[in-house]
Amino acid sequence: MNLASILGKAGRQAVDLLFPPRCAVCGSSDSFLCPRCQGSLPAAEPPRCSVCWQPADREEVCSKCARSRPAFDGLRSPFVFQGGVRELVHGLKYQHQSVLAESMAELLFHFLEGSPRPVDVVVPVPLFPRRQRVRGYNQSGLLAAALARRMELPVDGRSLVRLRSTASQAETQNVEERRVNVRDAFGCHDRQLAGRRVLLIDDVSTTGATLDACAQALRRAGATSVWALTFAHED
Ligand SMILES: [Zn+2]
Ligand SMILES: [Zn+2]
Repeated sequence: MNLASILGKAGRQAVDLLFPPRCAVCGSSDSFLCPRCQGSLPAAEPPRCSVCWQPADREEVCSKCARSRPAFDGLRSPFVFQGGVRELVHGLKYQHQSVLAESMAELLFHFLEGSPRPVDVVVPVPLFPRRQRVRGYNQSGLLAAALARRMELPVDGRSLVRLRSTASQAETQNVEERRVNVRDAFGCHDRQLAGRRVLLIDDVSTTGATLDACAQALRRAGATSVWALTFAHED
């Protein structure tokens, strides 16, 4: 449980007075992401695989996806996991800067406006319950809620669950290890998402193994399509 969630809205305003907003990237005051840093975040430039979003020679399905298609229809990320983007993701995850979720969701929203996907419901990649209790919140849940509000769509943070604790993907070495690490780690405990077109949200994607495992669980529960959207893609 973080300080802000204990204190509520009035308490958060008091915390803002004690700790005024500072840009998560450059440290300048007045905002959590200053206009200059926002304008220089590294974009995920094309050409990229139209399915997994890995950099590619041409804008088509890469050989890896052609061999073994992920369970999601496609993954998109507006930014690459470098520089200021790394600072934002780190801030959202570890420094209790849940306010960053609003700035980041705004950027995701603008990205989707330029590249719309057919969706009915927004679903965050879940944390294992114990990890969420320690951190106080699910950073992907904050992003999903802030984005869904802008899209005027419902968010479902309950149906998809993490069934077992997994090693952090950062601790695993290669693509195959990551795939094994998250295999069967997710499931849906109800049929709320049957017949729905899901937008699956996470902060960072690397190999896409976690999103693939989530998409498999969503499809088993009857979701008709799954588009994945992450703030950052680790190329
Ligand atoms: Zn800045
Ligand atoms: Zn691919």
